[in-house]
Amino acid sequence: MDKVKVLQEKLLEWYKVAGRRFPWRNKTISNYQKVIAEVLLQRTKAETVAKFYPQFIIDFPSWKSLADAELMDIEQYLVPIGLYRQRAKRLHNLAKEMVIRNGRLPTDRKELESIPFMGQYIANAVELVVFNQPSPLVDVNMARVIERFFGPRKLSDIRYDPYLQSMAYQIVEHADTKIINWAILDFAALICTARRPMCTSCIINNACTYFKKHFIY
Ligand code: SF4
Repeated sequence: MDKVKVLQEKLLEWYKVAGRRFPWRNKTISNYQKVIAEVLLQRTKAETVAKFYPQFIIDFPSWKSLADAELMDIEQYLVPIGLYRQRAKRLHNLAKEMVIRNGRLPTDRKELESIPFMGQYIANAVELVVFNQPSPLVDVNMARVIERFFGPRKLSDIRYDPYLQSMAYQIVEHADTKIINWAILDFAALICTARRPMCTSCIINNACTYFKKHFIY
């Protein structure tokens, strides 16, 4: 079996018993709630976002309510996540833009990326969580698992590394694409951690490049 399939199958099995549960992974939430979660999750630990996300959604239940809010009311929620002023402004501006667009998210990738304040990561997230398209949520955590398992990237910026991006797309090309994405992110947070990864008990260590290099003599 090729390594991509090994990773997909093992992580899907692992996710069933060990995956994390967050409100934004609930199937019944609106597209607005899904997008807001992804914007908040960018460069922020999921556990930190989970602490204020439910109340944020109660206070700002739609693009319109967020667009009409005072910037300082948005900021007060974002204090725990760092760069909060910048991020609150971005969220506010995105909400205003979405009101102009009547909340419509385009399925066309170019049109999606043309929305101001969107960016590559959020565009991927929209394709994944709203349209169920196989788009990877490539952040430093997903990049770490991919690089350890398959081998290192060449470029420092993960957004532009063709090898890393190609591997990420191959991995999430699956009928359960959302679950695969979440499984990798959870695996990165709980097992293949930045410091002291749990390699000796890892369920994919027999196919892992990092494990072979550091643990097999
Ligand atoms: S063996 Fe270690 S480095 Fe490889 S995937 Fe598992 S935890 Fe990560």
